Amino acid sequence: MRKIGIVGAGQSGLQLAIGLRKAGYEVVLLSAQTPQQIRDGRVTSSQCMFSTALRLEREVGINQWNQTCPTVDGIEFAIVGPDGARAVRWSARLDSAAMSVDQRVKMPVLLEQLQELGGEVRLVEAKLDDLEALTRECALVVVAAGKGAIANIFARDAARSEFDRPMRALGLTYVHGLRPRPDHSAVCFNVIPGVGEYFVFPALTVTGPCEIMVFEGVPGGPMDCWTGVTSPEQHLNASLGILSTFVPWELERARNVQLTDPKGILSGRFAPTVRRPIARLPSGALVLGMADVVCLNDPITGQGSNNASKCAAAYLERILRHGHEVFDGNWMEQTFEEYWSYARFVTQWTNAMLRPPPAHVAALLGAAANRPDIASWFTNAFDDPRRFFPRFSDPQAAEEFLASAEH
Ligand SMILES: Cc1cc2nc3c(=O)[nH]c(=O)nc-3n(C[C@H](O)[C@H](O)[C@H](O)COP(=O)(O)OP(=O)(O)OC[C@H]3O[C@@H](n4cnc5c(N)ncnc54)[C@H](O)[C@@H]3O)c2cc1C
Repeated sequence: MRKIGIVGAGQSGLQLAIGLRKAGYEVVLLSAQTPQQIRDGRVTSSQCMFSTALRLEREVGINQWNQTCPTVDGIEFAIVGPDGARAVRWSARLDSAAMSVDQRVKMPVLLEQLQELGGEVRLVEAKLDDLEALTRECALVVVAAGKGAIANIFARDAARSEFDRPMRALGLTYVHGLRPRPDHSAVCFNVIPGVGEYFVFPALTVTGPCEIMVFEGVPGGPMDCWTGVTSPEQHLNASLGILSTFVPWELERARNVQLTDPKGILSGRFAPTVRRPIARLPSGALVLGMADVVCLNDPITGQGSNNASKCAAAYLERILRHGHEVFDGNWMEQTFEEYWSYARFVTQWTNAMLRPPPAHVAALLGAAANRPDIASWFTNAFDDPRRFFPRFSDPQAAEEFLASAEH
């Protein structure tokens, strides 16, 4: 039986580990935290996953929250105009629902699921020595440590990384008591030009169904306001202050909110970064990077967990297909390139959303208010961002779409 080593108990590492165990591989997974520590810890993400990513994790047996997690059934999109009112506003349904299960709820269960399947979990925050030992023990070592410091052993790919600094100051606020949207649930996505973005949607957290408020502030601007916020109460107040100033219609829904728990808050920032897929350890052994380690995008488009699921599925398929062959550098490079042939579209679209939209994109977003087909296209492309292209990057293609009759 081939043994595979995985570093990191997040979406990609656990999904790959469970898939490999089910296919009969020996798996050793290094986790920096126990299930209880993850459960008791701080929120890490808003982790909204669309239908393809949900299907891929379901294929390896991850679907424990289907009955308990509220669904996200569409996208509501607004652009705030110079007068502070919504200059653009539309909504559309997703063809298939999305879902967000707090990683504090999900990852401990998946760790236990892996152990029940016979996977070995070792509690260690892996350093170089641990990676060296793992490469001696395993046929392949995959590093799925997300934004963990160990990711820095993979060199930044300057040609594929558009930014060298954080593009948004991020804030998360998990709440109960937010008034549901009428009609159907949705990611309510508000763009405040020059200031940032605010979006909110239903999820499942440690205290039950909730709503997650996500703040994406342009660095140095008025939504970049988390410095000096030290207590959960201050964090909630700062969140409501942003709503009051920039999106008062969202404050109306949030008048009676309370934090889900004192750890249901987060603030921080990071530079979107694409890295080289392979790291060479001092001994000369090679390890392969996965998901956020090698392709880290800003959360503005809510794609990281989706990418992690798709990356895990792609790597699983490549490992199984490789049979008993050696996992050499060539195989690692090709494995990442196969994933990158998808992920590059996610990165290109996400990076574009971090800049003011060019005229043809602004025209499409505006036209969606009167064109349900455009609103539906934009909404459903979140599930597979390749569908944004070529319209997002090519004014001619956007023009043709705008000129086409609705069907
Ligand atoms: C504010 C915010 C909002 C987001 N919202 C969304 C969203 O709505 N939708 C979406 O799809 N994505 C979202 N994301 C992104 C998403 O959470 C990540 O992209 C996704 O979790 C990445 O999965 P991963 O497996 O690569 O890494 P992670 O899920 O980060 O897992 C990495 C794991 O490795 C562990 N680790 C780190 N270093 C070591 C080490 N040395 N040894 C052992 N273990 C280690 C960590 O503790 C962690 O458990 C958001 C992110 C942020 C920050």
